[in-house]
Amino acid sequence: MQGKIALEEHFAIEDTINDSKGFFPDTIWTELRGRLLDIQDRRLRLMDQHGIEMMLLSLNAPAVQAILDPAHANELARKANDFLAEEVRKRPDRFQGLAALPMQGPEMAAKEMQRCVKELGFKGALVNGFSQISDPDTPVYYDLKQYWPFWKVVEELDVPFYLHPRNPLARDARIYEGHGWLLGPSWAFGQETAVHSLRLMGSGLFDECPRLQIIIGHMGEGLPISMWRVDNTNAWVKPRHNYPAKKKIADYFHANFYITTSGNFRTQSLIDAILEIGTDRILFSTDWPFENVDHAADWFDAATISENDRIKIGRTNAMRLFKLG
Ligand code: MN
Repeated sequence: MQGKIALEEHFAIEDTINDSKGFFPDTIWTELRGRLLDIQDRRLRLMDQHGIEMMLLSLNAPAVQAILDPAHANELARKANDFLAEEVRKRPDRFQGLAALPMQGPEMAAKEMQRCVKELGFKGALVNGFSQISDPDTPVYYDLKQYWPFWKVVEELDVPFYLHPRNPLARDARIYEGHGWLLGPSWAFGQETAVHSLRLMGSGLFDECPRLQIIIGHMGEGLPISMWRVDNTNAWVKPRHNYPAKKKIADYFHANFYITTSGNFRTQSLIDAILEIGTDRILFSTDWPFENVDHAADWFDAATISENDRIKIGRTNAMRLFKLG
């Protein structure tokens, strides 16, 4: 399919590049480093070869979220966003930007979000999971009440927020001890992001901000297949769920979430996601440079779904959500 739009596509700057180093064997570091630092050269060639008209770019992980000092986090976010804006300006027909945000300070994050959307023309934000604020051992999640004014600003700006994975902190990763292969994209990323998403849904945030739209990657981080059980387990016990939100969790998933195909190129999983959340809320993505563009595009172009759905997932849903063109 020609004209695809992809939106979980990362780059790095020198300040953040080493954040991506630990996830891969040293033997491929030169390759990955080159992929992350390139925007206008090899990336564009790959897009041309595989029918991707546009990438919405975002900073690598965890980057800003792992900086303990809020002022430094703000500084780095601004630097990365200014860099990205410059790159987008060179080829606005092929690239658009998603903002990195210093979530260590909800007010700072709201300000940077406004700057990025109103002054730099960014189409939304991408944040790498929880933030650490001063204390390296405590993860701060965004369902907490101090973030609600930030969410109001995002809702008001009418742009989506991509909740991207990062690994759990050591204190929350004991279940993976002795099984390091489960960290990162194979399991821990999805687990971490799914729970963060459920926290947002159960907190009542979407009763307060009903128009807020969150995007999660990797075919929904395992949530589509779990939705029914989250709401219906132990159905004979009443009342079972004790959370502040007014509705069923699935109601928020269906109304306030989008999912992307990033790094999860499997038709069985796509069809499950279609049955749960519908083709209007699924978006094509690759997760370059951590996954290959050809792996994503070759799979998606041939996946056994209707051509109408392919066009929606591959292009028109993103055009509508990000108000492109
Ligand atoms: Mn990613």
